[in-house]
Amino acid sequence: MPIPPSPYVGRFAPTPSGYLHFGSLVAGLASYLDARAVGGRWLLRMEDLDPPREVPGAQDAILRALDAYGLHWDGPWVRQSDRHATYAAVIDDLFARGLAYACICTRKQLEQRGGRYPGTCRNACHAAHDAAIRLRVPELTYRFFDRVQGEYGQHLGREVGDFVIRRRDGLFAYQLAVVLDDAWQGITDVVRGADLLDSTPRQLYLQELLGLSQPRYLHVPLIIQPDGHKLGKSYRSPPLAADQAAPLLVRALRALGQQPPEDLAAADVEAVLAWGIGHWRADRIPRCRTLAEAQLR
Ligand code: GLU
Repeated sequence: MPIPPSPYVGRFAPTPSGYLHFGSLVAGLASYLDARAVGGRWLLRMEDLDPPREVPGAQDAILRALDAYGLHWDGPWVRQSDRHATYAAVIDDLFARGLAYACICTRKQLEQRGGRYPGTCRNACHAAHDAAIRLRVPELTYRFFDRVQGEYGQHLGREVGDFVIRRRDGLFAYQLAVVLDDAWQGITDVVRGADLLDSTPRQLYLQELLGLSQPRYLHVPLIIQPDGHKLGKSYRSPPLAADQAAPLLVRALRALGQQPPEDLAAADVEAVLAWGIGHWRADRIPRCRTLAEAQLR
């Protein structure tokens, strides 16, 4: 009997606002191994929603780094900049149905208020042009079970408030695009960094509103610098060096709680990934939101 194809579809969704670094490698590797360990597909989506923040050449550099690290995706990769018409149509529809509204609060006004958006423009009936579009959130808690972090819930009204789905400058918001694209690509399993744990309840609400199915979630610890900051371009974390692929993959395996043998770092990339796929234990991933990079050397 032929083995039925695995229904698992995972994805890696980097933002080209910088190069891949060790933190992205940990999240990307977890997503890759979780998919490959069950014979699933693994897709790549470039989240290039914010051209002003994009680093020239970052998209190419990300593709090259994934290649050097042996993280080969299935099928053609997609980019969010090709999906604007879909995002715009959904926003028009939410607006027409009164589920979203136009907000003309300035950045300064929002800063003065701090934290949660108080709903100033909720019933003001501003026109949609030259305004941000915010989604009305219900006074409800949205909960899900994360495969590593466990039960997680947020009261959208009290803890989040009406959130932006299209910025005033016309750029589409991550929360909306990620939900539409995960559904469009048929993603069954989202594996990503724990910095996005508190975005997930907003995404669950959008899935419910748009009649989309909910993927399973697994949030891996975010790798942080000694000062507590997330690794990233702004904190000068070095881009992934092509000639360090095998040892850095082994370090990423350790960060994910896997127990590779000492001599694996001397093997080639294919052998490291084959070991990772064959021995993948998601239940060994540390159940914490952050891990200090320095402790992983
Ligand atoms: N583009 C996001 C990032 O690079 C990841 C989004 C996601 O995995 O949902 O942080």
